[in-house]
Amino acid sequence: MSVVVLVTSIVVLLVLVMFLKSLRLKHSFETVEPVELIKVDKEIPARHLSEAIRIKTISQSLMEREDYKPFLQFHNWLDKTYPKAHAVLQRKIISEFSLLYLWQGLDTSLKPVLFSSHMDVVPVERSTMDVWEASPFKGEIKNGFVWGRGALDMKHQVVAIFESIERLVEMSYQPKRSIYVTIGHDEEISGKNGARQIAAYLKRKGVQLAALLDEGGMVSQGMIPYVDQKAAFIGIGEKEYLTLNLYAKGSPGHSSNPPRQTAIGVIARALALLDDNRMPARLNLILQTLEGIASLLPFQFQFALANSWIFKPVIIKLLEKQTQTNALIRTTHASTVIKGGIKDNVLPAEASAKVNFRLLPGDTREKVLKNVHNVINDARVKITIDEADAWGACKVSTIQTPAYNTLELIIRQVFGNIPVAPLLLIFATDARHYQEICDHLYHFSPLRVAPEDMKRLHGVNERISVDELVKMVQFFARLLRVWGDAEF
Ligand SMILES: [Zn+2]
Repeated sequence: MSVVVLVTSIVVLLVLVMFLKSLRLKHSFETVEPVELIKVDKEIPARHLSEAIRIKTISQSLMEREDYKPFLQFHNWLDKTYPKAHAVLQRKIISEFSLLYLWQGLDTSLKPVLFSSHMDVVPVERSTMDVWEASPFKGEIKNGFVWGRGALDMKHQVVAIFESIERLVEMSYQPKRSIYVTIGHDEEISGKNGARQIAAYLKRKGVQLAALLDEGGMVSQGMIPYVDQKAAFIGIGEKEYLTLNLYAKGSPGHSSNPPRQTAIGVIARALALLDDNRMPARLNLILQTLEGIASLLPFQFQFALANSWIFKPVIIKLLEKQTQTNALIRTTHASTVIKGGIKDNVLPAEASAKVNFRLLPGDTREKVLKNVHNVINDARVKITIDEADAWGACKVSTIQTPAYNTLELIIRQVFGNIPVAPLLLIFATDARHYQEICDHLYHFSPLRVAPEDMKRLHGVNERISVDELVKMVQFFARLLRVWGDAEF
């Protein structure tokens, strides 16, 4: 056999193997049968969410005593609105305003599960008020939507969870394993008095959780380039948050007799170097996501994915194009604050900047700091960690667990046979506070959202469709039962 024939055969064989690998990826999940869901009168959860939105539980950085009144009102509203749930749940108030509920299970040998949520919402910027199509704190129900702050983040989930517990109690359901439900009061400003204290309390009591569900993933589309069909994403981890301070000293004086570079120039150069030298990309987490939605990808993408050992640079190039997917493959940075100078003809005595980093799991503060020093490589720039704005790492949960598998199954039973994929969250939630008492932290809000809805979160015209809210209630009624009875 000639060398040419040999090489050709090897290449053909290789391409064939690569082709077969991508075909296997295409058919990566089995179809599930739909299940019967509880009947929900759609007016009820919509009305309750509307009432919840009207209670202005706003979190802001400077809180006066007076600002906490709505939080107590929210407690009373819950109590009054869900009497059956409150008759079986044990309630404990943590840090005055956060709520921890326990639905005692029959079998104490099973580890409990926890459903995490929060009652606080972000403020509405005054300048955006006239863009709102409905008043943000009136809880208006119109055109099939409940409008207002908290409709998607995350009073919808509080209402859906309580609505479903109320119904399960009516049906005389009693869980085998204990179920905790938490409603934090300061998630939007770090969760340090709410979720962190709830977790500390549970830890003191020796509680270890089998699984936890918080907000994060949803059923959405347009998340990944070239994919415009719906898929469900379950959050399995959060990026670490780190801010670095950059500082340079200058020699003040008249600008008519300047040095080659002022303190401002030194800082500007450092920032430009950082922008030109991003942290390297890594695909390990995103590959799980892409494999989960592989059936929706165009064939070329499937082919590249199934053979990522050879096409890694191509996949990175593709994902780097969108800021959303770029954030999923590397530690990102953004220069967010810059200060320096007082007058156009005075040399600045100093200049400083803040650079905010979001760390990909696996990258550490030390690694980022070392990289920044190497890139800037300028002794005139002092680099320090902004300790007030550093949150610590959050572990990534495995997806090989009964809790994840049942979550995935129920998503597909409720939302049809859509692909379900794990996803790294690029923002923070309360869940990270529970890391010490739980290895399996998952993030999912059971509703379908359009791509433009993502901008409504913390933005203007936040709203949820009345029908999606019904789906949420049905989903939680099912998940509470499945997790409540499963022996994991
Ligand atoms: Zn939230």
